[in-house]
Amino acid sequence: MQVKAIAAVAPDRPLERTTIERRDVGPDEVRIAIKFAGICHSDIHTVRSEWGTVSYPIVVGHEIAGVIEEVGENVTSFAVGDHAGIGCFVDSCRECENCKAGLDNYCLNGSIGTYNAVGRDGEPTAGGYSEQIVADARYVLHIPENLPLDEAAPLLCAGVTTYSPLRHWNAGPGKRVGVIGLGGLGHMAVQIAHAMGAEVSVLSQSLKKKEDGEALGADHYYATSDESTFEDLRGHFDLIVNTVSADLDVVRYLSLLRTDGALVQVGAPSKPMQVPAFALIGGRKTLAGSAIGSIAETQEMLDFCGEHGIGAKVEVISADQVNEAYERVVASDVRYRFVIDTATL
Ligand code: NAP
Ligand code: ZN
Ligand code: ZN
Repeated sequence: MQVKAIAAVAPDRPLERTTIERRDVGPDEVRIAIKFAGICHSDIHTVRSEWGTVSYPIVVGHEIAGVIEEVGENVTSFAVGDHAGIGCFVDSCRECENCKAGLDNYCLNGSIGTYNAVGRDGEPTAGGYSEQIVADARYVLHIPENLPLDEAAPLLCAGVTTYSPLRHWNAGPGKRVGVIGLGGLGHMAVQIAHAMGAEVSVLSQSLKKKEDGEALGADHYYATSDESTFEDLRGHFDLIVNTVSADLDVVRYLSLLRTDGALVQVGAPSKPMQVPAFALIGGRKTLAGSAIGSIAETQEMLDFCGEHGIGAKVEVISADQVNEAYERVVASDVRYRFVIDTATL
């Protein structure tokens, strides 16, 4: 079927309306009528070719929330009318060590991205800035019915990308967690770490969003433009999650870790990081990275958010506002996720 979509046509041109083809539903697949699609900073890095070459036109969007409209004959896990979501990947090899261990986000043969990839059918994948999507049911998530779909969409990337390291590095009671950057990922990290019972601090460029951060569950809020922040918090955190999309001197933040603490990089600027060995050796510190989460962990995160009533704080926009929204995200002027209403496509 032909469906309406928004595509990027070149790295330096505004996104524009288009139509794309969605395949017929196969026996193991479902078709979702997309209701909302979040704008992740990764969409922007991708369409602007900041992470490498992209073949245009490209339809991005990997924070997809909608309603099941069709199910293939073998599918028992979904029924028409269910609330469903798709995140950053729509398939993986299913055979490698990681896929077999339920770590399909780290598929050794490369999981198949929701966009900017080639699907099993040999066709380029196209993401959530569109009206409909067809995918294998194994890579589709159940969205708890108590979460509004617009607030649920960003959980599919921003939610799981922060939930996964918080879980892996045991955020919880008695743990001090720092979140660098209060954007899309950061505001999810604060809510989730708070719900896990950790003591949460936001490390933002300024105090402009302090009230919001506290309302989201932060116990403390610091401006990184203030030198005294780095003096006062030396050796303070068990875990720091860096969500910043731009280059940041992480060495300064490593000094804020306690012995055995970990700084986990989820923000993905393209420039290499410079870290002297001594920033890690003293204090047996870990500098780590983390990529989204597995399908199983994404479902676990959605269920957790359903139980705790956690959704993203969203600004719902129409298709006409997408280019303006991109500019605002890049200028850190987002509170805290733009979500496209696909009824306006
Ligand atoms: P976002 O909404 O733009 O948030 C990024 C935040 O970083 C901003 O709100 C801002 O927070 C801070 N920031 C921006 N520029 C800065 C600068 N020059 N110096 C210091 N702080 C700055 O972006 P997002 O959608 O959350 O994504 C964040 C990053 O994570 C992107 O690079 C994205 O590609 C990446 N990502 C990675 C994964 C993964 O699997 N690892 C998944 C999704 C996204 P303050 O205003 O509070 O300072
Ligand atoms: Zn994303
Ligand atoms: Zn695999």
